[in-house]
Amino acid sequence: MPKKQKEPDVCPNCGAKVDKPLKTWNLVSPLPDAYGRITITVMGSYECPNCGHRWRAVVSKIRAGGTGVEVEGKKGVKKFGEQKAEQREEEGEIIELDLGDIDEEE
Ligand SMILES: [Zn+2]
Repeated sequence: MPKKQKEPDVCPNCGAKVDKPLKTWNLVSPLPDAYGRITITVMGSYECPNCGHRWRAVVSKIRAGGTGVEVEGKKGVKKFGEQKAEQREEEGEIIELDLGDIDEEE
């Protein structure tokens, strides 16, 4: 498997994988993008269980407004809400929004 760099949950110091961030918080961009959508960036603070290194990374990005909601995470981009018919054909499926995925789990 090719290794992707800049994974938010991989220690930049030793490369160990971290299960989940210690905490997460949201940064809301005050300016809408070209589609009139607001971008909410979900930040996470991580601590490496292996070497103790701490860092912050972008966990996911949520774009709300316009034609729906887009959630950009490490598994790709998920789209929610109303979509244009042509988009739906391309996507093939609609994935339900699971906020537990973005927020802290359990
Ligand atoms: Zn580490």
